[in-house]
Parts: sequence; structure tokens; C-alpha cells
Amino acid sequence: MCGFISIFGPDGTDTIHDVLSGLLAIQHRGQDAAGVVTFKDRFQAKKGLGLVREVFADKHLQRLKGPLAVGHVRYPTVGMGEDTDVQPFWLDYPVGVAMAHNGNVTNFHELRGSYFNHRHIHLASNCDLEAVLYVFADALMRRAGEGIDPGDVRAAVREVFDRVKGAYSVVGITAEGMYAFRDPFGIKPIILGKKTTPEGVWYAAASESVVLDVSGYEVVRDLAAGEMLWIGKDREPHFLQVADKPHRPCIFEYIYFARPDSFLDGTSVYEARMELGRRLAASFRTTGFHADVVVPVPESAKTAAQTMAEELGLPCREGFVKNRYVGRTFIMPNDETRRASIRAKLNPIRAEFEGKDVIILDDSIVRGNTSKQIVAIARQMGARKVYFASYSPPLLFPCLYGIDMSTKREFIARDRTPEELAREIGADHVLYQTVEEMIDAVRVAGGTPEREFCTACFAGEYPTGDITESMIASIEQDRLAAARG
Ligand code: SF4
Repeated sequence: MCGFISIFGPDGTDTIHDVLSGLLAIQHRGQDAAGVVTFKDRFQAKKGLGLVREVFADKHLQRLKGPLAVGHVRYPTVGMGEDTDVQPFWLDYPVGVAMAHNGNVTNFHELRGSYFNHRHIHLASNCDLEAVLYVFADALMRRAGEGIDPGDVRAAVREVFDRVKGAYSVVGITAEGMYAFRDPFGIKPIILGKKTTPEGVWYAAASESVVLDVSGYEVVRDLAAGEMLWIGKDREPHFLQVADKPHRPCIFEYIYFARPDSFLDGTSVYEARMELGRRLAASFRTTGFHADVVVPVPESAKTAAQTMAEELGLPCREGFVKNRYVGRTFIMPNDETRRASIRAKLNPIRAEFEGKDVIILDDSIVRGNTSKQIVAIARQMGARKVYFASYSPPLLFPCLYGIDMSTKREFIARDRTPEELAREIGADHVLYQTVEEMIDAVRVAGGTPEREFCTACFAGEYPTGDITESMIASIEQDRLAAARG
């Protein structure tokens, strides 16, 4: 689950500062690598492994000139982790195109094996974006004459939709303008913003609305599922619908990935988490258990913990202090790194546990490493009872759309009853949201009673309809091999 931003500023401006501010705002979406490509007479790039602040120095900013730019922060999925895989990618020929994406191409191996060998194109990386870039650039070259118009981009996106399967939100630039498109099911978000300065009008397309906030852009709107955007020489946004499938945005964005101050498809992530907390309070009440305090696992669970505590008439306390300089455990590349970092990341405050019945609230239950350690810490701090709650349902199926969360057999809640799960992690009771309650909470928060979501990692139904058991098995094997190193 990566993050991106693409900007088209007025002639004569340099957009690099807005790009870097935007990437810093979505650093939580990927901490493994960062990159920027700008265009002024030619493409200029700087990419590297590490955080945004580690990859970019003043000397790079002097070089990254021009009103057109695209930037990316990477969260690695299978096969990615090398510096050759760092986005954005670009091609000077057949037409100059730079591109970044968020998602996962599920037929990457097939594309690589047939289409590209056949056309004598050799992909230089293991990054699935490269396949999307070649399909797009090749189709654009065949269409574009004197200049690129919205119809040319539409034809290129149509070809991507025909050939490329999976989930992918894409942004990028050419020598003439900026484009963006969202896969036919719109699984990953893209939002467009606009600002006006004395130099003229600026447009930015990004993964989350916070990117727009930090540099003063007003929201224009989210792209729809299967929709494309082109902003060319006329500096007007051209939105064209390319595919007509049902919209299935990733519900896990609201649970964990997005920042609480972001809006995704018009729904506030903060409001969604507040509603999730209220609903969990209602189910805790039905247990009849006594509790003294709600303690969130920082950072994602803070919002839901506040409303859960309010509903239960309990204090919500900061029982764990997070070291902000240790990365997000969920998106760390392997189990060993994750285990070692949990204790370094969360330090308890004894006064919030000692002699108390504590509800510990987390965003999700995945492999159980974090849950087990957190429960153990609470007990070491003298908690009388430890109730472990998650404001999403337990993850049971792998995400094949861009989050390398686990293989099936690693999910701790798989084939376990809540009682068995509680025993496994050492808690007195385990409480989690149902899939139906989760969906309803996000719908209520957004005022969108009809909206459907991708909930595949919770319920096992993959919206793209092309996911087979053998595909899952093969991706899981890759993940296990990658974990073994
Ligand atoms: S499987 Fe889960 S994490 Fe992946 S896109 Fe769907 S809801 Fe999001």
C-alpha cells in the first residue's frame, strides 16, 4: 500500500517543494523507499531506499526542476525491496511518460512472460508498475500525433484495463501534462486538488486528501472507479469514464492505512473510526464484563478508543507510549523485524494497568505477534483483567491488491473461535467487529448507505473476480520464500 502525488504547476514554477511536503504527509503509507521524477525539457529523477527525509537533500531539490512532477513512497510487496524497484518509473521513448502507482498487478508474471517477451521489451525490475507503464506508453504512442489529447489517454487507459488485472491507482506525467486513473473497481484511492497562486493554477492528484491540505490545495473531487483524468496544455481537468464496473474501495484504508485527517471517496477516516469505536462499545456491553479503562494501541486505535470509552462511560488513557522513530510494524518486511520492533515501539505506563480491568483496543488482529506481546506487557504492568478488542474483524485471507499482510496459515484467528484466540494471545476475552458492522459503520460515517467495499482480507471475496486458489497459493509461496530470505 504505497502513497503517491502528481503535480502540474504553472509554467515557470518548480513543484518539487509541494511534492516533498505531500510525500512527508503520506510517509505512513510506505517507509521503505521514496522517489520523485520531474519534467523540465527532460525527465530528472531522484530515488532511493529509506524515508523521504533520508532520500532527498538540498542538492537534489536544485536539480528537480519543472512544473510537472510525480512522487512516491513505497511499501514493498512480494519481490520488491531492491533499489531497482523504487518508483516512479519513466520512459523517454516511445513517448516520454513517468508513472507511480499504488496497488498490485495480479497478472504481472503472465504479462511479463507473454506480452513483453513477444514485443522484445525487457523489464528492468520486479516492480509491477513497469508493466503498466509499458502498456500505457505503447498504447499512447500508437494514438498520439502532434500532441496528447484526452481521447489518446483514454485509449491508453482502456488498453491498460484490458491487459492489466488487479488493483492499481496510477498517477503520472508526460512532457505535456498530468494524468491519473483508477482501476475498474476503484480499489485504491485517488483524489484531485487545485490551488491558485499569483503564478497561476496548480493541480495535484494524490493517494489521500492530507497531501492536498498540507500545500493549500482545495479538493476538486475523488476519481471514480474506472475513471481517468488528463490535464494537458489547456490546463483543464478532463475526466473520462473508461470502465463501468461496481466500485469496491478498500475498507482497510479506513481501518488502518489512511491518516484519520484524510477523506477517502468523501468519507472522513476519523468519523469512520469513531463510529467503529461506538459499535464495539455496544458489543462489549453485551458481555457483561467490568472494565476500568480503555487503552488504545497507538496510533491508529486512538480515535476509536475515544468513542468506545465515551459510550461505556470509561476513561480512555494513554497506556502505551509510542516511539515514533520505529517504523509501522504491519508494513515491515518480515516477521523477525516486526517482533523485535514491537517492544521497542510501545512502552507501557504502569499506572494505567496496575490493579485494573483493561480493554486494550487495536485496529486489527493479524498474525497475533503484536496482540500477544501487548497482552503480556499489560499483565506485567499488573492488569487484573485484559480484554483485547479490535475495531475491525480479524484478518483471515491474504490481500492480493497491494498489502503483503500475511499468508493464510499465519493469520492467528483462522480456524480459531474467539475463546481459542483469547487463550492463544493470553487475554481474558477477545472482542472484535463483525464484517457487517464494519461495513455499516463506514457507510454511516460517509452518509453512503449503498456503498459496497472490498473486504476480501476479512471475508475472502475478491472483487476483481479473477483470483483463483492457485493464484493465492503461488503468491503465498512467494511471500514465504521472501520471509525466509
Ligand atoms: S483485501 Fe483487504 S486490504 Fe486488500 S484491498 Fe481488499 S480490503 Fe483492502
